[in-house]
Amino acid sequence: MEFYDQAAYRQTDDEQYEPLLAEKDETTTEVESSLPDELTRDELELPSLAEPELARHYVRLSQQNYGVDSGPYPLGSCTMKYNPRFTEDVAALDAASVHPDRSAESVQGTLKLQHDLQDYLGRIGGMDAVTLQPPAGAAGEFAGILLADAYHEANGEGHRDEVVIPDAAHGTNFASAALGGYDVVEIPSGDDGRVDLDALDAALGENTAALMLTNPNTLGLFERDIERIADMVHDAGGLLYYDGANLNALLGRARPGDMGFDIMHFNVHKTFATPHGGGGPGAGPVGVTEDLADFLPEPHVRETESGKYERYTPEQSVGKVHGFAGNWLVLIKAFAYIDRLGDDGLSDASAKAVLNANYLAEQVEYDVPLGPFHHEFVASAGEQDAADVAKRMLDYGVHPPTTKWPELVDEALMTEPTEVETKENLDDLADAFNAVAADDAATLESAPNRTTARRIDQTSAARNPRLSWHDLD
Ligand SMILES: *Cc1c(COP(=O)(O)O)cnc(C)c1O
Repeated sequence: MEFYDQAAYRQTDDEQYEPLLAEKDETTTEVESSLPDELTRDELELPSLAEPELARHYVRLSQQNYGVDSGPYPLGSCTMKYNPRFTEDVAALDAASVHPDRSAESVQGTLKLQHDLQDYLGRIGGMDAVTLQPPAGAAGEFAGILLADAYHEANGEGHRDEVVIPDAAHGTNFASAALGGYDVVEIPSGDDGRVDLDALDAALGENTAALMLTNPNTLGLFERDIERIADMVHDAGGLLYYDGANLNALLGRARPGDMGFDIMHFNVHKTFATPHGGGGPGAGPVGVTEDLADFLPEPHVRETESGKYERYTPEQSVGKVHGFAGNWLVLIKAFAYIDRLGDDGLSDASAKAVLNANYLAEQVEYDVPLGPFHHEFVASAGEQDAADVAKRMLDYGVHPPTTKWPELVDEALMTEPTEVETKENLDDLADAFNAVAADDAATLESAPNRTTARRIDQTSAARNPRLSWHDLD
């Protein structure tokens, strides 16, 4: 890997630069070890610093960071909601970290929890069976495609080689279908931002394996014709896949299974709190209707007649899509969240998420072309560049929305405040939006000016990432 010019990553103001520990001290540490010589090194390049220096280094770094714990984080589609601390406490219990190879007999509590989470998710999604294994939403999509594939194959319909996806869908939908070996048939959205039924009708046929859809869609709009869409897909012999990234809008109020979906993934790190992205790993359990349950990944967990819990391999299982039970500690947090909130708490969370999005949409002076919205809305930055708007919002101390997607709206500002924000926070967010709307071009192009890091060279950062301090040598 080529070295990259450090300046692109540094702030222009040197004083704000926090050196790496290796830059503060270049001591080489002699290593003494009782391990055999051939297994050890004589020297280790480890910086040697006193504890206060170390503590301050990390505190300074944390102060330069921005997260859900710092303030509003309205990144549309990502559902960046506050992560309640009690879920962390539960995941940190010794009993949570049992070795996944232990016998079923000795980990009945863990298996019960897995079983109960499968059950909770099934009830929330209106699905008959759920696997916890996929480690993210995108991985859930891929697992779902494998399930659809196995299902068609088992029914002698293996010739079905097309997956239909609306243009407003998340990029992972297209990638998952392609990775599963399918041809992607992209359909345009209608003028109202929803699935165009004529375009759908034209795309469906004897080669259709599935339609992938999220509802409400990525514009925050409910697909009102969902039952009609389900009938059309099923009449063509295809399956209906639900991208669960927007489930926070429906939680406890409507269920994908009742709308006619056959397969769905849950982004537990979006819908049921738990940090994600830079904050931590996620999990993407997949739910299916009875007809597809036999194909689920193994191991699956079930309760036996004697009330014990056991792992087993479903009869026509597609195999493993991840190790053991998936990202287990993330799943524990999701379980704790669901269990603590209960039915009323979950539906209350989604009601407030929808209310907050609609309240904010009303306060924002940017053009908001579509609606009515659910948990997120998409404004247009109009003449301004949405990426500049995002950089400038940082100067006002808030995290920007998702930008330039979906492409249906020019210079899109896709905004999802989630249920966790107070009215005061929403008003502050609106003030930030509206202040930026009034900013001149020069100000926007030079932003951010008040953050620790100035605007970085994003192309270089993506193409020549420096992933190790060794690259500094
Ligand atoms: C986040 C997201 C995904 C992908 O989920 P990951 O958990 O990030 O892999 C898929 N679809 C939509 C609409 C999303 O917002």
